[in-house]
Amino acid sequence: MSRRNRETPRRGRPSKAEWNAARYVMSYVWRYRVSFITGLILLSISASMFLVVMKLAGEMAQAAEGNEHILTKFIPQAGVETYIYVFAGLLIFQAVVSYTRIYLFTKVGEYGIADLRRDLFQRIIALDVSFIERNRTGDLISRLTADIEQLQSTFSNTLPELIRQIILFIGGLIIIFIEAPQLSLFMLSIIPVVVLVSMALGMYVKRFSSKRQESLARTNVIAEEAFSQYTTVKAFVNERFEMQRYRLAINDMISVAMKYGKVRAVFVVFIIFFMFGSLMTVLWRGALMVKYDGLSVSDLTLFILLTGVIGGAIASLGNYYVVLLGTFGATKRVQEILSQDTEMNIDADLPPPMQFEQSIAFQNVFFSYPTRQDIPALENVSLEIDKGDHVAIVGTSGSGKSTMVKLLAGFYPDYVGEITIDGASIKDYPVESIRQNIGIVPQDVVLFGGSIQDNIAYGCTNASEREIIEAAQKANVMEFVESLPAGLNTMVGERGVQLSGGQKQRVAIARAILKDPKILVLDEATSSLDSASESLVQNALERLMQNRTTIVIAHRLSTVRNATKIVVLHHGKIEEVGSHESLLAEKGRYHLMVELQQRQMA
Ligand code: ADP
Ligand code: MG
Repeated sequence: MSRRNRETPRRGRPSKAEWNAARYVMSYVWRYRVSFITGLILLSISASMFLVVMKLAGEMAQAAEGNEHILTKFIPQAGVETYIYVFAGLLIFQAVVSYTRIYLFTKVGEYGIADLRRDLFQRIIALDVSFIERNRTGDLISRLTADIEQLQSTFSNTLPELIRQIILFIGGLIIIFIEAPQLSLFMLSIIPVVVLVSMALGMYVKRFSSKRQESLARTNVIAEEAFSQYTTVKAFVNERFEMQRYRLAINDMISVAMKYGKVRAVFVVFIIFFMFGSLMTVLWRGALMVKYDGLSVSDLTLFILLTGVIGGAIASLGNYYVVLLGTFGATKRVQEILSQDTEMNIDADLPPPMQFEQSIAFQNVFFSYPTRQDIPALENVSLEIDKGDHVAIVGTSGSGKSTMVKLLAGFYPDYVGEITIDGASIKDYPVESIRQNIGIVPQDVVLFGGSIQDNIAYGCTNASEREIIEAAQKANVMEFVESLPAGLNTMVGERGVQLSGGQKQRVAIARAILKDPKILVLDEATSSLDSASESLVQNALERLMQNRTTIVIAHRLSTVRNATKIVVLHHGKIEEVGSHESLLAEKGRYHLMVELQQRQMA
C-alpha cells in the first residue's frame, strides 16, 4: 500500500534535499564516468543519425525527381540507386553505435547501482535496533529494492532516453527552420499551445490512474492479510467476512477505474480533435505554400516527418519529467539511510571480545523505548551481578525483564544512568565486544532459512562439525533431529520443515552452548518446552551455567530457587532482591507469586 502511494506521480519541483541526494547518488555513477560519458556521446550520435536519415529521405526524393541532391556534391553521377548503399552503411553504423551505447549504459547503471545497493545494505545492517523499530521492515526493504530499482532504471533507461528526446527536439527544430522557416513559424504558433494543454490534461488523467492503483493496492492488502492469516481466518469461520471485505474493495476499485476510463476517453477525443486538427491545419497551410510560395514537396515531406518527431519529443519530455521527479524522491529515501549513524563500522576488523573479570552493575537506570517515549520501561533500576553469579529476574510479563538484558547488550544506548562492566560504562566498549561475550537464548526464537546445522553455527561460523554435533547433543536437539529426513542438514523455515516452539528453543540453546559466552542470558529459555523436554534441557542448561555468570529470566519460579540472587521486577522497578529463602521470609511479592504458582500446580 505505502509502496504504491510512493510511486504516484508528483507535481512540482524537486526540493533542495532531493537535489543533494541526487548529487550523492550521481557520485556512484561517476565512478564509471568513462563508460557514462562515452555512452552519452554515442547516444548523441545515434539520435542525430535519426535526423540524418530523415534529411536523406528528403534528398532521395529530390534525386527521384531528377533534381540536385546532397550526394551529387560528393559523387557527381550518384542517383536514387546510390541511396540504398548509403542507407545500408548507416544501418550498420547505427547498429554498432546502439549496441555499444546500450551496453555502456547498462554497465554504468548496473555496476554503479550495485555499489549503492551494497552500501545501503551495509548501512542498514550496521544500524542500531531502535532505527529498525522506528522504520517498518517493509519500508526498508522497499528502499533496497523498489527505490534502488528506480534509480537503476533511471540511469540505464530514462536518462538516456530523455537526452535522446532533447537532441531530437532541438535538432528537429533546427532542421525544419532551415528548410521551411515560414511554415515552421506558423507551426510554432499553434503546436506548443496544444501540446502544453494536452500535457496538463495528461497529468490529470495520470492522477486518476494512480487513484486506480491505490484502490487496487487496497484490495491487495486485504488478500495479503487474508492469505497470511489463513489459519486464523479458517479458525474463526471468517471466509464470508473476508470475501465481503474483498468484494467491497473490488467494487470500490471498479468505480474508480470507470471514472478513469471516462477521463481517458475524453483525453483521447481531445487529442484527436486538437492535436490532429492543428496538424491538419499545418499540413493544409504547407500545401498552400507548395502551390503559391514554391515550397518543394520534399521539404514539405521532411517538415511533416520532423514535426511528428518534435511533437513526440515534447510529449515524452513531460512523461520523463514525472518519472524523474519520482526518482528524486527515491534518491532522497536512499540517501536518508546512507546518512544515518551506525552503531559499528563494518569495514573495520571485528574488535576483540571484552574482558569480564569482576562484575556487571546497573546504577539508577531509567529507560523508555524510543517508539514509546511516554511509558517508562525501567525506572531507577540498580543491580550488581558478580562474576559467577546466577541472577534470576522474575516478574509479570511486561515488567521490563527482557529490557534489562537488551540494555546490557547495548541494543539501546539512550538510557539514563549507568551500566558498567568491570567498572567501565558499556558505552565505552564497541558494541561488538560486548555482544561477543553475551549469549542470549531468547523468548521467541526465529530461525534463519537454512539447515539446522547452519542455525546452530550461526554466530560461530568457524565451528567444526564435531563441535556442532556436541552442542546439539547437549541441548537435546538430537532427540528430534534424528527422526528428520536429513538429520542436522534438514532445511528449516519456509522452504523446509517447520519446527515447534520448543524445538526452536533447543536450537537456540545449542547456539549458546557453541558460542560459550562469558555471560549467559536465558530469557524464558524453556517457556515453550513441555515438562518432559524441559527437564532434559534443564540438565543441559545447568551444565552450561556452571562456572558462568548467568542471568535467568524465568516464568516458572521452581527453576530459579537456587539462584544466587532473585530480582523481582514490577512495572519497571525493582521491588525485592534476595535469595529464595530470604524473599519467602519477607512475605512480599515474590512470596505471593510462589504461592500463586503452587496453587495453580495443585
Ligand atoms: P518482560 O520481558 O518483563 O515481559 P519487556 O522488557 O519485554 O517485558 O517489556 C517491558 C515494557 O516495554 C512492556 O511494556 C513492553 O510493552 C515494552 N516494550 C518491550 N519491547 C519494546 C519495544 N521494542 N518497543 C517498544 N516497547 C517495548
Ligand atoms: Mg520478556
